[in-house]
Amino acid sequence: MPKRVSPIDIFNLLPKTNCGECGEETCFAFATKLADRKVDLELCKPLFEESFKENLEKLKALLRPAVLEVRVRSPSREVRIGGKVVMYRHELRYDNPTAIAIAVSDTMPEEEMLEKVKRAEDFKYRYIGMDLTLDMIAVRCVSGDPDRFGERVKKVAEATEMPLILCSYDPAVMESGLSALKDSRPLIYAANKGNWKEMADLALMYGCPLVVSAPGDLNLLRSLTKTLLEYGVEELVLDPGTYPDEGLKTTINNFTMLRRCACELEDELSGFPLLAAPIVAWKGDEDPTIKAWKESYLACMLILRFADILILNSIETWSILPVVILRQNIYNDPVKPVSVEPGLRVIGKPDRSSPVLYTTNFALTYYTVMEDLRDLDCYLLVIDTEGLSVESAVAGGKLTADKVAEAIKETGIEKLVDHRKIISPGMAARISGETEEVSGWEVLVGPRDSSGIKDFIKKRFYGEG
Ligand code: SF4
Repeated sequence: MPKRVSPIDIFNLLPKTNCGECGEETCFAFATKLADRKVDLELCKPLFEESFKENLEKLKALLRPAVLEVRVRSPSREVRIGGKVVMYRHELRYDNPTAIAIAVSDTMPEEEMLEKVKRAEDFKYRYIGMDLTLDMIAVRCVSGDPDRFGERVKKVAEATEMPLILCSYDPAVMESGLSALKDSRPLIYAANKGNWKEMADLALMYGCPLVVSAPGDLNLLRSLTKTLLEYGVEELVLDPGTYPDEGLKTTINNFTMLRRCACELEDELSGFPLLAAPIVAWKGDEDPTIKAWKESYLACMLILRFADILILNSIETWSILPVVILRQNIYNDPVKPVSVEPGLRVIGKPDRSSPVLYTTNFALTYYTVMEDLRDLDCYLLVIDTEGLSVESAVAGGKLTADKVAEAIKETGIEKLVDHRKIISPGMAARISGETEEVSGWEVLVGPRDSSGIKDFIKKRFYGEG
């Protein structure tokens, strides 16, 4: 279960002046929101004054999530990684959706590299009212040439607003990449057994978070993490190694063990974001389609097994789509169904004889119905069911005859049409009689599946065919 922090304990460390700078009327209100992890500590500016230095450190320690939150930045965008308080989503919720980075290498022809960066930047998929996008670019050094790497990092940074991951085990190459960036905080990939000291020096000098890499060896990963913390690098990301095929079981087990140690055993050496590299699926001689498919399922499995950041190679929509949709579904707040604003929607160019329908404000239902009503001229009343679907809302008393009648009144639909007929979802048939009584409108019970709505309107509303 998540570590509960008491608002009183937080309040006792705040300045207690009720100055309102944080946007809350009182320090206690701010403390309550901090305990619920709904606001950032940074909003309390007075806390960062010298006189509260000690309290600030105590608050940071008190509020430290089981998995540290690491921030990666470009001059205009920030991606937050980790920051998990719980092992399982239903225990609270997951914050900071798994960041997805698309890889380019410094040996790609420049035009091809920039084209890939642009496709990653422009990737957008509309899904139940939300835009699903990608987050970062990982620039890999394959050439081994510091100058070439630095030049390519600069070009990539000029071509995208997305924050970067710089990938090389060579400190000279890494320094060249880091020095090519301005006003940025890239993620350094990676420190390993052979280079940890030089990489730690770079992380400290440039103020960047650092990935600790020990593929397949959790003991080494822990040992390196301990060493780096003692050396003074506080913001770490762990790479326990990603293996496809016969190594998949070990990969999944390692990710799970690390997250369990962080969340359930409060093990400080495991309490950092986890980096997965499904891009490893591109090794070997298989067909690129098979590689992209493997990468996609590996990414999906690792989102489910606690990966906080993924490095992918494919930019093909078909292979990225399952990854971004799964991520969206996993990172929804489980106590807040995805919903849309209730109210009246005007579809097409309805007139006074056009059909009137109603549905619930559960986003998935709403967007499905809207899609099925495309090309029609009609009115749709979206009833506030607190984000529940039709069947659940009827069963749970959130979709009632009174609510439908209320929506008819409040939306003013009576003034827009001359008839008094409303089409209900098929799954709300149970409340149709009562709705007629309460509203005075005739209810035509529509199909259970809204894909049949066009046909239904044609036959039952217009009496055609
Ligand atoms: Fe209290 Fe800080 Fe908010 Fe001011 S900004 S009300 S001191 S919590």
